[in-house]
Amino acid sequence: MASNVLVFVEQRGGRILPAVFQLMQAAKEVADKAGGHVEACIVGKDIAGLANEVAAYGAKKVYTVDDPAFEHYRASAYTTALDAAVEAASPKAVFIPTTFMGRDLASRLGARRRAALVIDCTHVEADGDDLIATSTLYCGKVFAKFKLTGSRLQIVTIRSNAYPAAEKQDGASAETVAVSATVSDKDNRVTVQEVVSTSSGVKDVTEGDIVVSGGRSLKSEENFKIIYDLAQSLDGAVGASRAACDAGYQPHSRQVGLTGKVVTPALYVACGIDGAIQHLAGMRGSKVIVAINTKKEAPIFGVANYGVVHDLFDMVPLLTEEFKKLNAAG
Ligand SMILES: Cc1cc2nc3c(=O)[nH]c(=O)nc-3n(C[C@H](O)[C@H](O)[C@H](O)COP(=O)(O)OP(=O)(O)OC[C@H]3O[C@@H](n4cnc5c(N)ncnc54)[C@H](O)[C@@H]3O)c2cc1C
Repeated sequence: MASNVLVFVEQRGGRILPAVFQLMQAAKEVADKAGGHVEACIVGKDIAGLANEVAAYGAKKVYTVDDPAFEHYRASAYTTALDAAVEAASPKAVFIPTTFMGRDLASRLGARRRAALVIDCTHVEADGDDLIATSTLYCGKVFAKFKLTGSRLQIVTIRSNAYPAAEKQDGASAETVAVSATVSDKDNRVTVQEVVSTSSGVKDVTEGDIVVSGGRSLKSEENFKIIYDLAQSLDGAVGASRAACDAGYQPHSRQVGLTGKVVTPALYVACGIDGAIQHLAGMRGSKVIVAINTKKEAPIFGVANYGVVHDLFDMVPLLTEEFKKLNAAG
């Protein structure tokens, strides 16, 4: 029975998503208990050089699917590539980050392989041949444990920041295996015409160890500057409620919540966000939550560790000023 864990290394333009290194830690814990080791799969164009980076975080073997056909993400083609790596590696389990790409890929791979699959796990544990995966239900209100039977391939996507990054060992190397994947006409039903980056140079909301989010109460895109200033003083990322995104104050890529992104930072600062259940679904797993709101009955205070009943337009710049002073003092 295979006991290795294969981690899918999500990368764009040669930059590995930080959550991948956290998955390496989860994979190590499971593989160690199952008597196996961690392996990795990288798909893309000119990505062979990333193998050492992954090896430094504990991968003993790296499967690379390196071809111009995989320069940009396309669901069907990437599934074919990952499927080819799974065929070559024959792992017990495949760990994939919970991202838009990861959810897409995991479900497709699961269908192709008739695998056992759980999405958006916060914890995974080997139990003999089986895998016990913890995930949330009902907008994050309850945790549920699922058993993925060892008689099938086990696939899980794991939430960002659910695990710390695996310890880095500079200079570690891994055996690399080049896998070729044939992209069929069926995989080519969608072709990428143009790629426009929506990144503004500020950290992605899922990558921040600290996230500062603003709501509809910011009233305009320009006013969000105070949220960016506070985030910058904390070296954090910027998030927003759906109401703020729908109003055009922020792009939907920054939306936190049920229909946005799920974040679990060490610190989440909610500025002028009411705390609707759909917003809480995306941030209630944060370790410390600070809420700033003028309405003391706002539901956000129900999940906040620290609450400030005050106007955010006064409070946020004051906090920024204080953090800047602390930064300057070293
Ligand atoms: C199917 C579905 C999916 C959804 N998915 C999401 C999702 O993914 N993410 C999400 O966020 N929402 C989602 N929503 C929307 C959600 O229900 C709420 O409408 C939304 O979260 C409200 O955003 P808000 O808190 O910014 O705005 P509001 O509800 O308008 O709240 C604004 C808050 O700011 C406070 N305030 C006002 N002025 C100030 C001030 N000057 N200083 C301090 N506080 C102030 C107010 O007291 C209030 O609490 C979804 C809804 C549905 C139906």
